Amino acid sequence: MSVKRRIFRCIAAGAAFASSILAGAYSQGISTLRDAEIEDFLDDYSQPIFRAAGLPENSIKIIIVNDQTFNAFAGGRYMGVNSGLLTIAETPNQVEAVIAHEAGHLAGGHTARSDEMIAQATRPMLLGLVLAAGAIAAGAPDIGIGVLGLGQNIGTANLLRYSRGQESAADQASITFLDEIGHSSKGALELWRKMRNSQIIRGDQINPYFQSHPLANQRLTALQSRAEASPYFNETDSPEEIARFRLIQAKIRGFLTDPNAVLRRYPLSDQSDPAHYARTVAYYRNSEIEKALSEIRTLTDLYPDNPYFHELEGQILFEYGRVDEAITPHSRAVELASDKALLRINLARALLASQEPSNRQQSIVELKRALLLEPDNSFGWFELARAYSASGDEAMANLATAESKYHAGAAPDAIAFARRAMAGLDRNSREWRQAADIIVAATPGDQKPVLAPGTDTNEQPGLPPDAPENGEKGEQDVPDPTLTIIDSL
Ligand SMILES: [Zn+2]
Repeated sequence: MSVKRRIFRCIAAGAAFASSILAGAYSQGISTLRDAEIEDFLDDYSQPIFRAAGLPENSIKIIIVNDQTFNAFAGGRYMGVNSGLLTIAETPNQVEAVIAHEAGHLAGGHTARSDEMIAQATRPMLLGLVLAAGAIAAGAPDIGIGVLGLGQNIGTANLLRYSRGQESAADQASITFLDEIGHSSKGALELWRKMRNSQIIRGDQINPYFQSHPLANQRLTALQSRAEASPYFNETDSPEEIARFRLIQAKIRGFLTDPNAVLRRYPLSDQSDPAHYARTVAYYRNSEIEKALSEIRTLTDLYPDNPYFHELEGQILFEYGRVDEAITPHSRAVELASDKALLRINLARALLASQEPSNRQQSIVELKRALLLEPDNSFGWFELARAYSASGDEAMANLATAESKYHAGAAPDAIAFARRAMAGLDRNSREWRQAADIIVAATPGDQKPVLAPGTDTNEQPGLPPDAPENGEKGEQDVPDPTLTIIDSL
């Protein structure tokens, strides 16, 4: 248990929740996003590629970075995809090309050329780089990305580079993987050309990587000859795949760009599904709730089996205080996509906010189901603590808070709440054991206590000292910076 905890900790560190798009903001202005629909899309396209690449099932976690520039990176067990990649790419096949390239680095076990990085970097740059790589290696990708944000202003994209040979190898590997699943590598060629043309014709600064990379033409030529030789070169995305992608693009634009710009891009004369979707979000963000509801209900009427349309309707109602009305669409979303933890958390929040006592119990049930799906979801544990507290069960509330703190990387607080929970729990219960596990896992290696049922934790000599009531965020492991690299395409 404790090993697993340490491996999976911090994935949601510092995240703050907004029902549909979950953003974990950092002082550097970089944040990560959680959204069930976008994650589902990325999973559907990446899992076959990861299998073709021989990467173990579920071994790579995809993180969506709230950044409207075009970029992606990979390192350790993580692949990061900028939101901008999803709006700038024109087809799912282009997104696949990037995923396959990054999978090529991961499968190839590539490591960045630290000597070159050191030669190019000033000391502050290098510090940011090592911190970012190390934080990701330690299992705290949000923190890594946060630190990386510092570097992006000073040209990190140029620093975080694999060798030329590794870039070419990743290109070639990407074609192998896409061939294996019968998909075209044309998307990669289209992307390269698009980036190059926009630089030449308009002088765009789309991405420092594309601007400065001297190998663009050479790589394009090598890619092209192999891609065109593939029997799958002319395979294209189906109309259904394109339609799904357009909805995701509309959603991202709706949430991440200025609402008035969204309404100009998707004017009322546009009665397409993506336009309804984008306008829903734009109106919602402009507090024009009736308009937003009218737009989303056009979509739920047309597509009653799309869970994400119901989710958004529920979110709008919930955020504007109509919590009892929000329960029905959130329930429908859960029925339609029962394996999505985020949808269950949305439903649980609406249930908890309603005044009906029986809903409170149901909220606990939904949160437990969500946390079975995502045991490291700090926000889910936080909500579970609120639900237990509302039900008067302080011991279980303390246990859930301990889990929440633990998964947010706040080890001292996790220990403090786990101790409080143990005081109110039966010593032979599973929950007591769970609290003990948290204490062991949150304690630094050389101070680990030995806890067994029946032990008085307050007198256990091996236990670490009590954590402060309002402890600071737990210390991160000191990472080995050689473990991980981060790629910029
Ligand atoms: Zn690369």
